Amino acid sequence: MKKVDMIVKAPHFYTMQGEGVGYKNGVAMLVDGGKIVDFVDEKIAEKEYKAEEVLELDHHAVFPGFIDGHMHTGCNVMRGLAQDTNNWMMYGLQPFDNAATSQQKDIGSEVAIIEAIKAGTTTLGDYNGEMENVCAFIDKIGARGNIAQNVRAAKFRVYNPGELYEFDDEQGEISLKRNIELYDKWHNKGDGRIRILFGPQGPDFVSPEMLIKVQKIVKDYKTKMHMHVQQGDRETYQIVKRYGKRPVHFLDDIGLLDRDLIAVHLTDCTEEEAQFVAKKGATMIVNPASIGIIDGIVCPSMAFQDAGGFVALGSDQAPGNNCHNIIHEMKNVCLFNKIKCQNPEIMPAWKALRMATIEGAKAIGVDDIVGSLESGKQADFIAIDLDYPSMLPVYTYPMRNIVPNLVYSARGPEVALSVVNGRIIMRDQKILTIDERESIEKIKTCPEELGKNAAEEFFKIHGTNAVFMEEDKL
Ligand SMILES: [Zn+2]
Repeated sequence: MKKVDMIVKAPHFYTMQGEGVGYKNGVAMLVDGGKIVDFVDEKIAEKEYKAEEVLELDHHAVFPGFIDGHMHTGCNVMRGLAQDTNNWMMYGLQPFDNAATSQQKDIGSEVAIIEAIKAGTTTLGDYNGEMENVCAFIDKIGARGNIAQNVRAAKFRVYNPGELYEFDDEQGEISLKRNIELYDKWHNKGDGRIRILFGPQGPDFVSPEMLIKVQKIVKDYKTKMHMHVQQGDRETYQIVKRYGKRPVHFLDDIGLLDRDLIAVHLTDCTEEEAQFVAKKGATMIVNPASIGIIDGIVCPSMAFQDAGGFVALGSDQAPGNNCHNIIHEMKNVCLFNKIKCQNPEIMPAWKALRMATIEGAKAIGVDDIVGSLESGKQADFIAIDLDYPSMLPVYTYPMRNIVPNLVYSARGPEVALSVVNGRIIMRDQKILTIDERESIEKIKTCPEELGKNAAEEFFKIHGTNAVFMEEDKL
């Protein structure tokens, strides 16, 4: 008998190999040393292999763990406090963000990460100003992190409409230094589960000199730049006023559009501009629900893909999404584009599933280790319970309905098992690596103080949600 660490038995494997979903059945997946070794005929697995751990997933479908390319988990402590309003950042988020402490944001991160894992995410693309504790928590929980630190020179203050951001070069340098320190401390740590990227907040928040400097560091350190790009008319206005051209052309002029750039949102890009970015070799992260809720816009991810670019899905932030659930994002990217194009054949379920797995992995630069189930890759996978009501009934002939039901019907609780680097981190919706109750109890203590500290500014700004509150609509 040959010995491996783990044998995974299931009636359906969606490996995401090839150009479709890489469906296999009648096989078992062998895992050893945290990696996928092979798929073998299930009878051969029975006869020739033994393992410490045999996963008998007899009413499940196995998929690669989902990739959430772009998250601000720290904002989760403000979940549900900023949606349904114009001017989301100023009218919605600002009073609460000004009141939230770093400690409260760390607590928010923990719960967002737990939520994401329970909905099948194994790779978390988190991005914020203070990432040290997030790295430690992701390491402890056993997930995979693709983490960027916010680099920003624009002073943190309220700007009048039309006013250009005021750059503070020293603040920019300090934030960049923190990103470098984070890289030195965490890159490739946690058995290679954590990677550190560099995260200028956007072309409008730092000087061109600093963008070029960050790009050089990214190339020297062999990592990626993760940046909001053309994320709204606010950014376009700033860049046009400063440099006389729209953001993607400004970025191209300074040599920023290349394969080391992960461009987030492209909210204010025309389809031609999105295709221009894709052809330059950069990749994209689209955040359908977040941008739908905070801007009412469907970002040009399909145009980007049409030009040959890779796109990952992201859940972004909870004060206006309001969840970290990639199953929802798969459904949303399909629905929004079908509606935008008035064409049900646009963006089928299998394409969204690729965005959540192999295409997403390519977009954020982790396809060397995850994104598909194949020999040599890390064993990051999830099992979907096909006995869950939202997945039933299951058809395999004349067509399989598992992928359409995962994308359009599932919500998260169907995820019965989550494995990262060959280690089970969640089973039956219970995280095994940490005491999740601890994080849940901590976040419940936040609203009282945060709410009290935000109240004065909230009512002074008197945005949509303040009016809703007064009118008994919340
Ligand atoms: Zn963002």
